[in-house]
Amino acid sequence: MNNKDNIVRKKNTYQRGEYGMYDVIVIGAGPAGSSAAKQLASNGYKVLLVEKMKMPREKSCSGILIKKSMDLVQHYFGEETPQFVQCTPSDNRGMIFTNDKGKEYRFEQEGLNIWRSSFDHWLATKAEEAGAEVCQATFALSCEEKDDCVVVQLKNDKAYYETAKVVIVCDGAVSALKRKLLGTPKNYITTYQTFCKGAIDLDYHYFYAYLQPQLSEYDAWFNVKDDYLIFGVAVKDPSTIEHYYSEFLSYMSTQHNVRIDKQIKTEQWIMPHIMPGCPIDFGKGRVLFAGETAGFLNPMGEGISSGLESGYAAAQAILQTYNKDLLDEQALLVVYQEHTAALQNYMIRQWRFVSSISSTFVHMK
Ligand SMILES: Cc1cc2nc3c(=O)[nH]c(=O)nc-3n(C[C@H](O)[C@H](O)[C@H](O)COP(=O)(O)OP(=O)(O)OC[C@H]3O[C@@H](n4cnc5c(N)ncnc54)[C@H](O)[C@@H]3O)c2cc1C
Repeated sequence: MNNKDNIVRKKNTYQRGEYGMYDVIVIGAGPAGSSAAKQLASNGYKVLLVEKMKMPREKSCSGILIKKSMDLVQHYFGEETPQFVQCTPSDNRGMIFTNDKGKEYRFEQEGLNIWRSSFDHWLATKAEEAGAEVCQATFALSCEEKDDCVVVQLKNDKAYYETAKVVIVCDGAVSALKRKLLGTPKNYITTYQTFCKGAIDLDYHYFYAYLQPQLSEYDAWFNVKDDYLIFGVAVKDPSTIEHYYSEFLSYMSTQHNVRIDKQIKTEQWIMPHIMPGCPIDFGKGRVLFAGETAGFLNPMGEGISSGLESGYAAAQAILQTYNKDLLDEQALLVVYQEHTAALQNYMIRQWRFVSSISSTFVHMK
């Protein structure tokens, strides 16, 4: 399908099963998946977006949309991030890093404070409005190339198959699907954060990251969402969470006079462990990876912008290489790689920066 054909091809004309084959199945309705699905459906492609959870679903996140994410949302979804997905204080004014020598680096920048459950739900709704079929509470178990298509095994209250010319896997950091396809080893950072009621002598409009090795094995952070003070630590070995979390709280108490009245909830999650050089897995054959599945995550843990951008880039690669029934499989991965080269370079530059200010990152293996 070329761009001229896109204009002629009608949206929303296919009923499930009628056409027999999707152009593209996108797995995972996070920022990467919804961005890919929206772009393809807007161009008249028959798209299935599969999400294992019922939306809105929880996703552990600090929920800071940096300026770049705000601009990408506007560009890819045609609207500004709506107010109903935002929390207070809704404007984030930047990030303040403290390095291992206790020196502060301030990055003042316009940003937004959002809840991921409602933000991601809104993005998926926009993909649906553009013509993507959204299948929630449906688990993708496997995807396998067969002749000139990919067979995706799905499970909700029943187990069934769907087929597509191309699949984009955006199932996040754990990506069981990628590991099945590539046999890649698990390499994660575990994040742990608590939502507390209380007070602290810091400006609630900023996101604070602490790179001292005695506070975490990656970084520790503090931010505010609605009435919650959120304290987090990232570790390589989950058995060390309790130790680092308590070190971090004592540090915050000494340095910033934290007073906790009540701990309301805790969250434990996974992030890809981004290594120096920021290697990316782009996919295999007709299966592309985007977002954290591919390894797109800025080294300070900001991944909404790279999720949105890599999902869009995967969609662009398909638009350029899939013409009616004909897919230039060789070109697909190359074009995708070209579209994401700047993104990967940005990650590498950010890695160089954090390793220049903190020894935690210099020695990371
Ligand atoms: C504690 C923490 C704080 C963070 N804070 C920020 C922040 O403030 N700002 C920022 O920009 N980034 C932040 N990030 C990073 C950001 O959350 C991720 O980089 C981003 O969500 C990646 O988007 P994604 O679309 O690749 O994956 P996800 O957002 O993880 O989406 C993957 C989706 O796939 C679904 N899925 C998984 N497996 C299957 C399956 N088999 N079948 C169907 N569906 C499946 C999941 O349910 C999920 O909806 C943070 C991460 C953590 C852990």
